[in-house]
Amino acid sequence: MQFFDIIIAGGGPAGMSAAAELSKDFKILILEKKKPGTTQTTWYSYEDRAVKYELEDAIAVRTKYIKFTAPTVEHFMKDECVVFDQQKVLEIWMERAKSNAAVVKHEAFIAYYHLGNEIVVETNSDKYRASLLIDSMGINSSILQKNKLVKRKDAWVIYGAKMSNVVLDNPLQLEYLPLNDEENTYIGIHPHNENETNIYAFKGQKNTYGNPKELKEKFERFINEFQPNAKQISILEGTIVSGTLKKYALDKVVFFGSSGMLNPDGCGMGFNEILMKHRAFADGIREVMKTKSLDEKSLQRVAYALKDPETINFQKIIGAFSLYFICSPGKWDGGVKWLNAMGEDSKYWMRNEMTLDWIKRANLKLNGVIPFKETYKMIPLKDFLFILGQYIRFKIKSKKSDFRNSA
Ligand SMILES: Cc1cc2nc3c(=O)[nH]c(=O)nc-3n(C[C@H](O)[C@H](O)[C@H](O)COP(=O)(O)OP(=O)(O)OC[C@H]3O[C@@H](n4cnc5c(N)ncnc54)[C@H](O)[C@@H]3O)c2cc1C
Repeated sequence: MQFFDIIIAGGGPAGMSAAAELSKDFKILILEKKKPGTTQTTWYSYEDRAVKYELEDAIAVRTKYIKFTAPTVEHFMKDECVVFDQQKVLEIWMERAKSNAAVVKHEAFIAYYHLGNEIVVETNSDKYRASLLIDSMGINSSILQKNKLVKRKDAWVIYGAKMSNVVLDNPLQLEYLPLNDEENTYIGIHPHNENETNIYAFKGQKNTYGNPKELKEKFERFINEFQPNAKQISILEGTIVSGTLKKYALDKVVFFGSSGMLNPDGCGMGFNEILMKHRAFADGIREVMKTKSLDEKSLQRVAYALKDPETINFQKIIGAFSLYFICSPGKWDGGVKWLNAMGEDSKYWMRNEMTLDWIKRANLKLNGVIPFKETYKMIPLKDFLFILGQYIRFKIKSKKSDFRNSA
């Protein structure tokens, strides 16, 4: 049995980005059940992140804003946005890993077991030994399922296609608009170039992973009606799952990416979180590899270090408020009104780059746009008490800082 320092199961953005970094120091094996370097997703991100993580060669389109449309209002979220060529991002990371002698195999992870101080990974065609297994198999990871590790899960379920012959007023606009607000179903448009566009239907659902295929008919009806001449180049489908796990690591196994619930509840989005966190994750793994601390507790510490508690608390609030949007037909307007109330600051929400001061203002503005008396009935009691506590905390803090500013 061949030995690797680290086996990475799953070659999506989480697995490939971790491999690109960790292959600088360790002997790495990447296992991917589909053709390595491919994905059925599409990612928008930001120019500064493309520069910081040396992914400029994968930029397909640059835009100056994201347009959010709601039934009665719209919001232009000004930012230096980019839409990546997603296959190219994966190829770049895969090539970086390979150039550091990482091995990429087109094999499916089946199971693992402990053998002395190592673990043995079984695939559909072979067995390998390693000191550490990184599970980046996404939300359907068999390790998560077998160990019943998912505590809470909510999903944005997505189905669409990369299309040609699309006729749009502004073909290079990054855009989100309602398809059926009452059903909490929306359309996302990620331009790829002047002639090709990624278009998808997406739906927010609670307590489920959902099934992307359930949106197929809605998506096709939308395309037939509004873009009758458009042609499908390739299918986009998947889910953006957020939630919590009972454990973020097991003995000699750590979760990274969707399998580690890295997607925030209300914003940010999964690929972007992976992009922002993969170097910190790799640093954490280097440390535990160096000290040979690959037990559950030490690995959980690496995973927890990627989560900022203030931001998570804020996202819990946004998550609870999203119940309001989901339960109230036609109330998506509230979300876009809140973005307008935040003005130029709204982008930090989508970026998931929040300071405590920003969180405080955003909470008070959210409370101003959506009256608390109207929403509290829809918030579960346990969230309600938490949110109330946060408001009191923010109000006291803002009073104190007003006092300090005027003093
Ligand atoms: C249509 C769409 C649009 C999106 N838009 C954005 C966006 O604009 N911005 C953003 O930040 N995020 C976006 N996301 C979310 C983003 O794509 C995900 O958060 C991200 O892909 C998660 O990456 P991951 O590597 O953790 O998991 P995945 O992308 O799910 O990758 C898991 C990989 O593991 C492989 N695998 C699974 N099981 C096995 C096995 N047994 N053996 C070997 N390999 C296995 C899978 O084939 C897959 O390649 C979008 C998602 C979709 C579907």
